[in-house]
Formats: sequence, C-alpha cells, structure tokens
Amino acid sequence: MRKIIVSCFFMLSSAMMMAQNVLSQEGQLVSSPDKSLQLRVSLEDGKVYYQIHLNTRQMLSKSQLGFTADIGDFTQSLRFKKFEERDTLIHYSLAHAKKAVVNQKARVADFTFENAQHRLFTINFLVENNDVAFRYSIPRQENDNPKCAVVQSEVSSFRLPSQSTTFLCPQITPMTGWERTKPSYEEEYVADASLSAKSQFGVGYTFPCLFRVGNDGWVLISETGVDAGYCGSRLSDYHAATGYTIAYPQPGENNGNGTAMAGISLPGKTPWRTITVGSTLAPIVETTIPYDCVSEQYEAGEYVKPARYTWSWLIWQDKSINYDDQVKFIDLAAKMGYENVLVDNWWDQNIGRQRMAELSRYAQSKNVHLMLWYSSNGYENDAPQTPRNIMNNSIARKREMKWLKSIGVVGIKVDFFGGDKQETMQLYQDILADANDYGIGVIFHGCTLPRGWEKMFPNYIASEAALASENVYFSEHHADKEGFEMCMHPFSRNAVASFDWGGVIMNKYMDKDNKSRHARKTSNVFEMATAITNQSSINCVEVTPESYPTLSADELEYLKSIPTDWKDVKFIAGYPTRYAVIARQDKMTGKWFVGGINGTNKSITLTVDVPMIANQSVNYYYDSKAYVPGGKSTTARKRIKINKNGKVKLTLQPNGGVILF
Ligand code: CA
Repeated sequence: MRKIIVSCFFMLSSAMMMAQNVLSQEGQLVSSPDKSLQLRVSLEDGKVYYQIHLNTRQMLSKSQLGFTADIGDFTQSLRFKKFEERDTLIHYSLAHAKKAVVNQKARVADFTFENAQHRLFTINFLVENNDVAFRYSIPRQENDNPKCAVVQSEVSSFRLPSQSTTFLCPQITPMTGWERTKPSYEEEYVADASLSAKSQFGVGYTFPCLFRVGNDGWVLISETGVDAGYCGSRLSDYHAATGYTIAYPQPGENNGNGTAMAGISLPGKTPWRTITVGSTLAPIVETTIPYDCVSEQYEAGEYVKPARYTWSWLIWQDKSINYDDQVKFIDLAAKMGYENVLVDNWWDQNIGRQRMAELSRYAQSKNVHLMLWYSSNGYENDAPQTPRNIMNNSIARKREMKWLKSIGVVGIKVDFFGGDKQETMQLYQDILADANDYGIGVIFHGCTLPRGWEKMFPNYIASEAALASENVYFSEHHADKEGFEMCMHPFSRNAVASFDWGGVIMNKYMDKDNKSRHARKTSNVFEMATAITNQSSINCVEVTPESYPTLSADELEYLKSIPTDWKDVKFIAGYPTRYAVIARQDKMTGKWFVGGINGTNKSITLTVDVPMIANQSVNYYYDSKAYVPGGKSTTARKRIKINKNGKVKLTLQPNGGVILF
C-alpha cells in the first residue's frame, strides 16, 4: 500500500514583502499572524539580541544570538545590513505524528548582519501565534571561497523571566551507565526547580526543555531539522547573566570518535531552535513547530502502517528470545487483533536466521508482522547484544534490509546509539534512508531526541529518548515514579516528537509469574489511558500470556480497540508530573478519545471542557476506588452523556486514570 504524502512547501499567501536597512534603537518588532506574540530583535554594542512577549507578557527576556566558526566570529562587532519579512502559509500532511494535516500561518523574518571581517550571516525567524523558530544561514563570499565551514560554538541563548521554574531532564556525561552506552536521554526529570538549580551531572540539559513562567504561562525550548548536516545540541547549565546557552555534544561521546562541532557546506545553515509559548499548556501539547520548519527528505518507499505490537522482552526478558516463546506472543497479538510483534535482542543467535524466516512466515499466517531488534553500532559503546556491526556499515546494512524485506519483516528497532555528534546524526539518517528503500519502518531506542524526523523521514516511527517502560521492570524506584514521568511527557518529550515508551503495561507484577518482584504502581485504567496520553503510531501494548487471563471483558474490549493513527490532538487539562488529560482524534473514524492520568498519590477531581464530544453518549472508563498495587483491578465502566456545553466532571484516583470514547 502506498500513500502519497503531500510534501512540505512554504506557500506565499500574500506578496507582502517588506525590506529595510535600518534597525531602530529599540530594535525591530515582528508580530505573529494574530498579533498576540511579539518577537523583538535588537543590535546593541555590536551584539544581536531577541526577546519574546505573548499578550504583552514577557516569556523570553533579552537573550543573545550568534555563533563562532573557523571562518570568523559572528557574536560581536556586528553591523546591521538588512531586514525582510513576509507572510507565509505552511501546509502539509503527516503520516506518523500527532496531527495528520497542518495549515499554519506564519511570518517569516530575516535579519542580515555583517561581522568585523565583513562576513555576512542571516538569522531566519519563523514566527507563529505561539511559536518562534530561528536558525543561522551563512552565505558563500569572497570569490566563492571558502566553500565549507566548521561551526565551533554558539552564544544562542534563552533567558527566562526571573519568576520562572524549570522542568528539565539533565544531560549525562559520556561513556557512563550500562555498558558505557550513555548519553541516551534516559535521565530523571526534576519538576518546578529554580532557574539557578545546577544540573545533576553538571553538563546541562537535553531537549526539550520546559519552563513555567510563574502565572504568565509556559515555554518549551527545543530544536528541529537536525540530520546528517549538523550535530544535536542541548542547553547549558543556567548562568544569571546569559541564561541557558546552546551547547554542542561532549567530546567523549561515541567513545571519543568524531568531532563535537558541526561541519557545514557553504552556503549552509544551522538547525532550527524552537520556542513555544502559551498562557496555558495547550500550545505546548498541540504545537507543530518541529514539523513546520522542516521538509520531507525523501518520498516514502512504502507506507509504513500504524500498528499495535506485543513484546515478550519487557517482562520475559532475554530468555524469551526463542522460537516457542515468540510464537506465544504472535498468537497473543493475533488474538488481540494487533498487527505486529517485536522480537528483541539476540534473535540472530538464539533463533537463527533460517528459523526467523519460518517465524515470520508463521506470524504472517496469523496476519501479524515481525519487527526485529538491532544494535546501532560496534565501536561506540560496549552493549554486547547482537545483531551488532550491521546497522553502522552500509554494505551489511543494505544486505540486511534486503533480507528483512524478503522474509516479510516490517520494522526494526535500533538501539544503543553513542550520542549527538554529527557522525551519529549521519548514522540515524543512513539507517532511515536504507530502511525506506525496502519499505521498513524504524524505531530508535537508547537514542537522541528525534528532531522533526516524522516529516523529514516518512518511514521514521518513534524513539525512546526517555526513561521508558524497561525501567519500571528493572527497579521499584522507577515503578514508583511511573506516574510522575508519564505525566511529564505529554508536556515535553512527546510534545515535540513521537514517543516509544514501550508498553501499556498490563502485568500487575514485574515478573513472568505475575506475582513476584515488585508490583506496578499504576492502575489498569491509568495504563490503558497512556495509549492516548502518549503518541506513537506503532505502539506497544504489553499484554502477556500471564496478564491476558487477568483482564476483564471491558479491559479487553478497550485494549483491542486502541487506535494509533491520530488525526489531531487537544490539551484538556494537566500539570507536568502531576496529571495529564489529553484528547486525540482517530484518523480512521474521526472519533475522539480522551485519556487522563494521575501521577500523584492523591485523588484529583476536575471539571473539564471536552467540546469535541459535547452532546454525545460515550464510554467512560474510570477507577472505582484507589488501586492497591498488586491488588484486584479497579477498572469500572459506564455510559455517560456529555452535556451540550461539553463539560464533564472527572475523578482521577491516585495513580489512576480515566478514558472517554
Ligand atoms: Ca533504553
């Protein structure tokens, strides 16, 4: 099946174009299409600054812009040359992200400056009603030379108003953690910390970075459009004078291999840095800025179908990577009506390639398709699992993709990447591009934040880039914190990119016998609601042979009907790390699903607006009382009529949830 995806284009909705060559003393104002957001760019003592107001409230204080390259210093002694602005309408379709169709009005504003050596650069801004994105463009000058440059560092900064608090995930130092696989964006968020708080490992924070600007609203900072053409960035620790500054990868990432700077061809550009602002969390949850700035890099080889999958590894671990156990999970997927099964690490050794082909045939006979695990590398870290040394070698990789296609495998999960250096971004891009040639979808684990990839790479599905479900299995500490983390992601990690959390977890205990080790702390309704609060178009539902018989008819009915192909998303209510109520619209049926989760140990009662289901009679799943970990399911269900005003009162039990559909 092939689906035509409308490629991105910037369409000029009006010929209005303004150009000027003076920058007034107070700077140049650029207003969003609805005028609510105002960007101000100024030049003071040879340095460029920008600031952002939303409805006259300051959301980003005056912060510096600029960069240093081997071809010159673009941070100081700058002279203003030119300013141009115009309206644009950004229109495109998306296959695997939170929205299916985007129509976005924006203002494009380009500021050109010259440095002390008469070298030019332009700061390109894209200004939407709740978003500002910027990047640097560097032309080719001087008899066409040089034709390339190394960008060494940036002063691009983000100063938050002093009343702001932070919701950040620290970056970790390289070659640390299990088998020296970090950094992999798997650290713990700290909620409502002060701006001056030091990061846990002293090396700043990974994107995206969420801030609460007191009672004035919220700011989410991230970046997009990073591919083989640049390294991934992060935010530095906070400094009172300069705020947070863009920081490049740590030299020790990738076992020290590869540069920690960015090499570009000229004319060239940096990735887009994005700032989403809102008086509520709605613009954060609903933003499309990661996709608005980027364009499709290639046409989809084949349309990768959205799917649900079962996965033995989360609870049964490495021992389950054998033919007979995988058959059990295929049979279970078939019984649930799920499309895929993920076979995790060591399959090449424990099952072997020939029997994998047989397993894939068996799966297809049940209308189920396999996805297979791979290590990303062989020289970046010590992760021992195989298959290894395939995905980082173009000859072996292409041969592998051909084989995968020949046996009917539809997806791969590639794990254990070595950081954010440009050569690692190249590796992500190469894996995606080769997989696309064979119509294979790609999920990344142990990895960086995807930056606009759902649109750039049509066979890209989702990434981990968070402390995901495996940690709930590994330790009781993370089981205790599941509610906290899951109530963070809709407002940060999952707001900018698809998120493979790796399982709506239906086991009560984190063991194959479903009664040993530690218990899951969240209720069944909480878990089921995460299929709505989290977005990934190929989503794991961790139903196991031992949890299946414990599920009620109501629970099974919902689990079998979970959509993963969404048309739209709306923020309903929430506070990061405490609770989240999110609505998503099923692309196929147009039907809305509302999922709510409570990450605290106190019950929360809310009256919320759900205009999308006003005046409708819907299924209401909730917890009849507070769930006791390891105890009897508290899932209750009734039909309710939503009043014509679209208001409904919801009670979210401690670590519990609600679902309306
Ligand atoms: Ca992981």
